Amino acid sequence: MAGAKISIIGAGSAVFSLRLVGDLCKTPGLSQSKVTLMDIDEQRLESVYIIAQKYAEEIGADVVFEKTRDLDCAIADTDFVINTAMVGGHGYLEKVRQISEKHGYYRGIEAQEFNMVSDYYTFSNYNQLKLFVEIARKIEELSPNAWYIQAANPLFEGVTLVTRLVPIKAVGFCHGHYALNEIIEALELNPAEVDWQVAGFNHAIWLNRFRYQGRDAYPLLEKWIKEKAQSWSPKNPFNDQLAPVAIDMYRFYGVMPIGDTVRNTTWRHHRDLSTKKRWYGAPWGGADSELGWSWYQESLRKITEGMKTVAKLIKENPGWKLQNLKNHGNKESAEQRFMAELERILDPERKSGEQHIPFIDALLNDNKARFVINIPNEGIIPEIPANVVVEVPAIVDKSGIHPEKITPPLPARVIKYYLYPRMMRMEMALEAFLTGDVRIFKELLYRDPRTKSDEQVESVIEEILSLPENAEMRRHFLK
Ligand code: NAD
Repeated sequence: MAGAKISIIGAGSAVFSLRLVGDLCKTPGLSQSKVTLMDIDEQRLESVYIIAQKYAEEIGADVVFEKTRDLDCAIADTDFVINTAMVGGHGYLEKVRQISEKHGYYRGIEAQEFNMVSDYYTFSNYNQLKLFVEIARKIEELSPNAWYIQAANPLFEGVTLVTRLVPIKAVGFCHGHYALNEIIEALELNPAEVDWQVAGFNHAIWLNRFRYQGRDAYPLLEKWIKEKAQSWSPKNPFNDQLAPVAIDMYRFYGVMPIGDTVRNTTWRHHRDLSTKKRWYGAPWGGADSELGWSWYQESLRKITEGMKTVAKLIKENPGWKLQNLKNHGNKESAEQRFMAELERILDPERKSGEQHIPFIDALLNDNKARFVINIPNEGIIPEIPANVVVEVPAIVDKSGIHPEKITPPLPARVIKYYLYPRMMRMEMALEAFLTGDVRIFKELLYRDPRTKSDEQVESVIEEILSLPENAEMRRHFLK
């Protein structure tokens, strides 16, 4: 196999693209691949392009890069389209959040029961959902045999939408399930002897199977809770896998929530900053509090800024090596923040942990491996409809995707009290997007405990639809 043609849409998503580039360069079976980087932001695109080329050159990888701002060019004649684009960027999400807060919706109207993740908008994200469909339709037209691999959020809604509308090969990937390693580490287990399975929806997965050395491992978790949970504290806002909130969810549902699922609970854990601190730990109160999310945005901003500075330095000094830039700038500088990320990417012994490139390698080169993957259910979780995308473990090889049988099954409480309501909101968001029926958008808010009046609902929706970037969404909803 002489490599693959891989297109990355939204390639300016700094760390994500370079992780993929790093993995690709470290995968011998994908040597001679061609990567098309596509983004609408010229400067981000140019920066990723310069660094990717430099990186491949330094480690002697036989990978060719090209860049484009044209979606058709990126999609024509390709094998894999990885979508990591976010229309409007973090700036748009912040605008909607601020408008919402002005109208009494703490952390924004998109913060909803079982969906509190701060860059995961479903109702006010018309432009993002539209881009998903546009990319899928272009794949159908220009590269009908290509795979669509979605990384961008909202993943659950996006992959369900695309697989319902467009007959292409589509999957979604998230790295949330790796948080299971935090439990394995805390319990001091040998990862090779842990038999685990997770199942549910994206950001809504549950540890249905957890065995160690052939025995149920939940008693080991119980022991940890009894002896160590009291002294737990978070190392960063995202470090919540063993936070009091996770234990609280475990106590109610009977199995552990994994990864971003811990962020997606009810208002019991999210009412205000002090509530969040109590359940997710001080000082941040979790990733989705005003403090936790600012921390994340600041770190993303620094990395993006650092990437641009590093790319500029390489452009001006073509003889320089990335390794030489390790000590450039002071310790707190954006370059250093970016270089710390890049160093992990440059490490020849380590892959990023993102599943996209190993998935391509498994399919093309029969490098059989286990993934946690988002695909249409089609019977995998018996209580969920066939055309709803689930996140489940699957073996992938040259013959395709082979989902595992989910055993033991998910507890009835997880299905009925968690997955069903989450699925209902997904259906509401997709119907609102497809039909433009603004009453669905309103219904979401009538059911919201923060809503005190119909007037509040009317005014927040009106202000969001009045944003200049939402002109098309406004026409669609108010036609
Ligand atoms: P970002 O804003 O830093 O990067 C997104 C990129 O998309 C930008 O470079 C932007 O210019 C580009 N873009 C915007 N509109 C575009 C268009 N029409 N066509 C092509 N490119 C376009 O955002 P980020 O923080 O890197 O996040 C990107 C996405 O990935 C988000 O949806 C986020 O929620 C998601 N995400 C997914 C995972 C996962 O594991 N699946 C993890 C983290 C983030």
